[in-house]
Amino acid sequence: MKPIIGITPSMEVDELYYKVANANADAILKSGGLPVIVPYNLDEADMDQLVTQLDGLYLTGGYDIDPTLFNEEPHPNLGTIIPSRDLFEQAFVNKMLEVDKPILAVCRGIQILNIAMGGDMYQDIYTQVDRDLLQHSQNAPLGHGSHFVDVSPGSLLHQLTGRDRVRVNSRHHQANRSVKQPLKTSGTASDLIIEAVESETHRFVLGVQWHPENMLANGDEPSERIYRGFINACSE
Ligand code: MN
Repeated sequence: MKPIIGITPSMEVDELYYKVANANADAILKSGGLPVIVPYNLDEADMDQLVTQLDGLYLTGGYDIDPTLFNEEPHPNLGTIIPSRDLFEQAFVNKMLEVDKPILAVCRGIQILNIAMGGDMYQDIYTQVDRDLLQHSQNAPLGHGSHFVDVSPGSLLHQLTGRDRVRVNSRHHQANRSVKQPLKTSGTASDLIIEAVESETHRFVLGVQWHPENMLANGDEPSERIYRGFINACSE
């Protein structure tokens, strides 16, 4: 039996349709998981049942995050937000953490994971970070690795990739500002933007600021190892 992986989709502001990039479902399938797309409008009991039946949770990319969730008002450069998604993911992440089921979070996912775990984030790095930054909104094909990430020795990310440095794609203007225990930073860009976080106390809770699903489609080995590691953890 393949492990069943819940995938959270995205939505437009009209809130009419769920959508999820095919590359995400493909990445889970290729790595041995069985993906199912999870809608936001679940009540407490439905969420609890799903948490019992899922083997892992995969948080995908999407729009910005409602700043009231981390006690800020909207910055002028804040983009589209879908508050129903934020609230659902925050609640669902906490339920998965309680039972220590694996979570892999990509792009926006790394921020909602961090907010759910009590951390803090930038609404717009270009105007809120007071130092020179790299280009984090790449003008290049989706799977192109445009900047590097230094991987912390001894981290889960290091264990998975076997690398001190990975090359990643980058399509974000938001980023985590600080993380709270048991979350720790395990990857940073050369401009010190947080690019990976993981839990020190859970079996497998990993967030990456990039889109490994697009790197995987290009045959990137560290991305293959991240997904395989996630699916293996979901199979235990
Ligand atoms: Mn980046």
